[in-house]
Amino acid sequence: LPVVAIVGQPNVGKSTLFNRIINQRLAIVEDKPGVTRDRNYAPAEWLGHKFDLIDTGGITWANSNIEEEIRAQAEIAIEEADVIVFLTNVTNHVTNLDERIAQMLYQTKKPVILAVNKADNPEQRMDIYDFYSLGFGDPIPISSVHGTGIGDLLDQIIASLPKDISLNDNEQISFSVIGRPNVGKSSIVNRLVGEKRVIVNNEEGTTRDAVDTPFKTKDGTKFRIVDTAGIRRRGKVYEKTEKYSVMRAMGAIEHSDVVCLVLDASTGIREQDKHVAGYAHDAGRGLIILVNKWDLPKKTSNSGKDFEQTIRTEFQYLDYAPILFVSAKTGQNIEKIPKLVQTVYRNQQQRIKSSVLNDLLLEASKLVPTPMIKGKRLRVYYMTQVSVNPPTFVVFVNDPELMHFSYQRFLINQLRENFDFTGTPIKIIARKRK
Ligand code: GDP
Repeated sequence: LPVVAIVGQPNVGKSTLFNRIINQRLAIVEDKPGVTRDRNYAPAEWLGHKFDLIDTGGITWANSNIEEEIRAQAEIAIEEADVIVFLTNVTNHVTNLDERIAQMLYQTKKPVILAVNKADNPEQRMDIYDFYSLGFGDPIPISSVHGTGIGDLLDQIIASLPKDISLNDNEQISFSVIGRPNVGKSSIVNRLVGEKRVIVNNEEGTTRDAVDTPFKTKDGTKFRIVDTAGIRRRGKVYEKTEKYSVMRAMGAIEHSDVVCLVLDASTGIREQDKHVAGYAHDAGRGLIILVNKWDLPKKTSNSGKDFEQTIRTEFQYLDYAPILFVSAKTGQNIEKIPKLVQTVYRNQQQRIKSSVLNDLLLEASKLVPTPMIKGKRLRVYYMTQVSVNPPTFVVFVNDPELMHFSYQRFLINQLRENFDFTGTPIKIIARKRK
């Protein structure tokens, strides 16, 4: 998907605009628990055109001054985005910082749309003419708080998006390799595709697809590793920030069928691993845990089991994810990664017939009584699969309030026991039978 980035000096209203634009979709997507994290990257849509939106203002780090911050923001926008929204604020008039940002944006050939925020009333809308001096053509007056002008801005964004970005090639299984810095992501990718074949293209105007790396296994299965440039690029100050790496990871997750989360056997599990894992889980993608640098720890007969146990304890919600111990250095188990990705991909696409599901429901009801809350017992009438990727099931019941978490968990386990859903999350939605 094309990427749109919002840039602007602090307090012009970047995150309000960001939330305005993504709101419609989030209202739908966030209808599941655990997804209320602070975001600076989200999928968005306008008139059927999909794109990813970045709020560069969310990416800051300690001990930096405003100068450094806006420089980093502009660089991120120039590197990542296909279209840049330069946000200013009418009540400030044109500031020095606006001019500084403009200078930086002159250096890109990518389309820059100038929006002037807080143009809440007609008088203020007159003041937007000052902003022609920034040199980005017609300024678009908006009010992120009141929602005026947002449609015009979105129309402009859509009109500026690159044409003909070829999307998912259906024959390819796309996956990403994510994790905190230095766990060995680029080493793994290099091992998988061969050092020379990793295309890293930093040229201006390259689309996201150009930084994906396609490869084929011996049996002819085609894969695409998403966002390999993001994995290999390195050195800029902002790339070391946690928010930036999370943003990259979220972008990669959105564009993948299957996500490989890399952990480092030599350092153990860190807080940042958990953040990245949380995003992968929330996105509902297939997930594989790779424990890399397995050549390093001194091993006893139990090391593998012990490490696995630690992972299961630390990432309880990822109980569906298979774990593979690998070493990018020695090559151990690296060739098993594509096979496993393929298996997880197949599992998440799986469809189970309703008749089979209802047999399972009947058997399940014999194993465990349905929960009873305040004297009222849950009755489960019927179950059907409504979608794949992730497999999602609707259960029709007498009262959805009675569908206790633990019973939902029990049904998911029944599904896992009867079918191979390794690597994919499963969703169960309780609906009242009409
Ligand atoms: P990235 O930031 O996640 O892409 O990590 P890199 O691939 O750049 O690896 C970080 C460091 O770990 C480099 O010095 C690698 O040589 C080293 N490294 C990566 N994989 C392995 C491995 O399996 N074993 C050992 N011993 N070192 C590794």
